[in-house]
Amino acid sequence: MIIILKNNPEQRQLENLRSWLLSMGLHIHESKGESTTIMGLIGDTSSVDMDLIRALDIVETVKRITEPYKNANRKFHPADTIIDIGGHKIGGGHFQIMGGPCSVESKEQICLVANQVKNAGANILRGGAFKPRSSPYSFQGMRGEGISLLLEAKAQTGLPIVTEVMDISQLPLFEEVDIIQVGARNMQNFELLKELGRMDKPILLKRGLSSTLEELLMSAEYILSGGNSKVILCERGIRTFETATRNTLDLSAVPLLKSLTHLPVIVDPSHGTGLYKLVAPMSLAAVAAGADGLMIEVHNDPEHAMSDGPQSLKPEAFTELVKAIEAIRPFAYKTNN
Ligand code: PEP
Ligand code: MN
Repeated sequence: MIIILKNNPEQRQLENLRSWLLSMGLHIHESKGESTTIMGLIGDTSSVDMDLIRALDIVETVKRITEPYKNANRKFHPADTIIDIGGHKIGGGHFQIMGGPCSVESKEQICLVANQVKNAGANILRGGAFKPRSSPYSFQGMRGEGISLLLEAKAQTGLPIVTEVMDISQLPLFEEVDIIQVGARNMQNFELLKELGRMDKPILLKRGLSSTLEELLMSAEYILSGGNSKVILCERGIRTFETATRNTLDLSAVPLLKSLTHLPVIVDPSHGTGLYKLVAPMSLAAVAAGADGLMIEVHNDPEHAMSDGPQSLKPEAFTELVKAIEAIRPFAYKTNN
């Protein structure tokens, strides 16, 4: 971090700033020009509040040189993180497809789709039990019962399951869930992230609707700094001025995130586009961009789905897509850190 001071800083204030920075365990390298003094801070600046320094009378500006995330940073952890999900690895060259309905709707539906995605070649079953809906009048999910049904589908197929938690109070229900999903709307629910940091379970962290990549990585940092190293990041589209698609799928996030962090990065083209016709091309593009996996909504009867039917693939289309993904995987871009 670099602090640029105003001309002729008041000496007492400068001394106060110096001793404050030293008290944080930092070393200071000062260079005095004719009109400007620059202070270079050496050491771990991740907990230094830039805004506090910027607000001081004697400070002209402050610039960060290293990223504010330490645990997620590839600079400090060059090797890819590989996470094992019920015997299926993700990251470090291992690729996984998570498929299943937006919402768990009944025992018949989730077990049928679980078998269909398994037969298509997916290794992980998705399904929402707690649903974050824009309207309180929309289907809110089967909640605890939905998790029980996912566990039945897991028992039937052997597929590990991923499902979304919306609140800390729901966590006791997630004991047998293989991956806990943090949805886009909860990416900055910091108390939830802290709690997940205390757990020893893979977490799928989705990018917030209007979040920058740095904010996504800082949210991952909450989980990692709590001691849980099993974080998977998910690009799921962001808000832009474009309304032709539900969100704008930011595929440039994939190679960029993979150069910034060692964590696995997957793409959700279903929420990323909102349109089932765009799911296959965007899935293939995500693979080409170097994603470590995909999360795709699949429904046996999308026209009558309780949520997100328009973006759900039918099992036959999903089966074709999995074949195409396998065919292009050898050509996927590998980020050269
Ligand atoms: C979901 O995966 O069902 C979901 C609600 O996703 P997101 O949080 O990305 O909107
Ligand atoms: Mn959905």
